[in-house]
Amino acid sequence: MQIIENIADLKKIIKEWKSQGLSIGYVPTMGYLHEGHLSLIKKASSNDKVVVSIFVNPMQFGVNEDLESYPRDLQRDAKLCENEGVAVLFAPSVLEMYPKGFSTYVDMNSLTDKLCGAKREGHFRGVCTVLMKFFHLIEPNTAYFGQKDAQQCAVVKHMVEDLNLNLNIEICPIVREEDGLAKSSRNVYLNEDERKAALVLSRAVFLAQNLIQKGEREGKIILKAMREELEKEKLARIDYIELVNPKTMENLERIEDSVLGALAVYIGKTRLIDNFLMQSLKS
Ligand code: AMP
Repeated sequence: MQIIENIADLKKIIKEWKSQGLSIGYVPTMGYLHEGHLSLIKKASSNDKVVVSIFVNPMQFGVNEDLESYPRDLQRDAKLCENEGVAVLFAPSVLEMYPKGFSTYVDMNSLTDKLCGAKREGHFRGVCTVLMKFFHLIEPNTAYFGQKDAQQCAVVKHMVEDLNLNLNIEICPIVREEDGLAKSSRNVYLNEDERKAALVLSRAVFLAQNLIQKGEREGKIILKAMREELEKEKLARIDYIELVNPKTMENLERIEDSVLGALAVYIGKTRLIDNFLMQSLKS
């Protein structure tokens, strides 16, 4: 596996692969890899070559967010990638990605003003801008994303469609700890009590899914049940809980065919997200 830090070296390799007609699977990450990331890398292995990027993108962090403290361990990540047969680990510096004078951005006017986009100003501008750069540099046939970041999945698919990008987007299911907590690099912030408290997110998710499976379709009733579950946990502070149309992110008062239930909750100072997607509900 090659670890590459500069764009010129990356371009050389991609050019060579393209001239040989090899397919490229790409997994964008911010590093501190866990089984969620590894599930994406495994999926990407159906391509001839896999590229993983590790870049803690300052542009997608708000001023009071955790850019500085975000966990980083490139050596450990490199070993994990190597074990999965990754061909190139691309880990550029901030200056490599955003040299002095950088001033072009990808903005989206729909989808991004809801859920996390509403709570994290500028977040998706940062996500779209950096992904656009990575897509151009890596020229993947397919890029792999986790359903864990449900809004990101919708935003990326929309960007690919709007800008006629020549790649496939594949979405992979949420990987959870045995007790239900969705895997996240941010879980390392949690102390013992907070780790227990964090289970309230998946409990609320499973509760809502159960209600819907049993036939409940009224948004208000489902949200109330989720809210009550979350409020039982003293260390939890709700940032948002919403039931939305998975494509448009518009709120649903009543569930018809499909629903994305998404929530963001602070456990102490750590902001965690979780969600569920249910489709083909019309009977
Ligand atoms: P991140 O490093 O947090 O930016 O995540 C990189 C990619 O891994 C994104 O597409 C995430 O949605 C995905 N991912 C993160 N956590 C999980 C998880 N628990 N299950 C599945 N995919 C995940």
